[in-house]
Amino acid sequence: MIAGNWKMFRGPEPSALRGALGDLPHVVAPPFTLLRDCVEAGLTTYAQNVHWEPEGAYTGEVSAPMLQDLGVTGAIVGHSERRQYFGETDLGVARRAHAALQAGLGVIACVGETWEQRESGDTETVLRVQVESIGDLCGTHDNLVIAYEPVWAIGTGKTATPELAQEAHAFIKSLLAAPVLYGGSVKPDNAEELLAQPDVDGALVGGASLDLDSFVAICRAGS
Ligand code: PEP
Repeated sequence: MIAGNWKMFRGPEPSALRGALGDLPHVVAPPFTLLRDCVEAGLTTYAQNVHWEPEGAYTGEVSAPMLQDLGVTGAIVGHSERRQYFGETDLGVARRAHAALQAGLGVIACVGETWEQRESGDTETVLRVQVESIGDLCGTHDNLVIAYEPVWAIGTGKTATPELAQEAHAFIKSLLAAPVLYGGSVKPDNAEELLAQPDVDGALVGGASLDLDSFVAICRAGS
């Protein structure tokens, strides 16, 4: 799976992207306001977040059934920007993942350590806590994918080496049987060697997914 996280950007024009992708497998995760356009263009479309309740007094949130009304087929949960800027917790992320899976959505659940945590030798502890909280609530599930996104590599141009990514992915898979995507400054020129690692099952792409040609090139590397 190659998934593009558009964050709070407009991204490429959906029908142009759909045309350029041809048969290449892909997922796009645009802002909520562009979900319908992406679905209507025929793109495989995920939301960037989803709430655990089907409805309720949760201002600013969107539920799995609401996403499904639009034809959205999955959601990202636990992105580090949600954890860092919006106070999302391991339990909240696990509840979001669980509700989305129960509703029949695909889920990309993000985990990853900060630079300080890596430097102090805490990477495995951090990953264990994050992955196990998802695994404890969701178990293994055909529609559950983990994204390993070292926080220090997101939007910084600092990519994990293929060896470092492989090591983290293998560790995550020892905790939970799920495909693991790599995320963190994936670009057309580094995608192939990252994706060649045996436990790298795809990529979650931020910045480079905003450029039509770059995203198509990464999807091609993935196929
Ligand atoms: C992301 O937002 O999930 C991401 C990996 O961003 P970037 O590719 O820009 O580092």
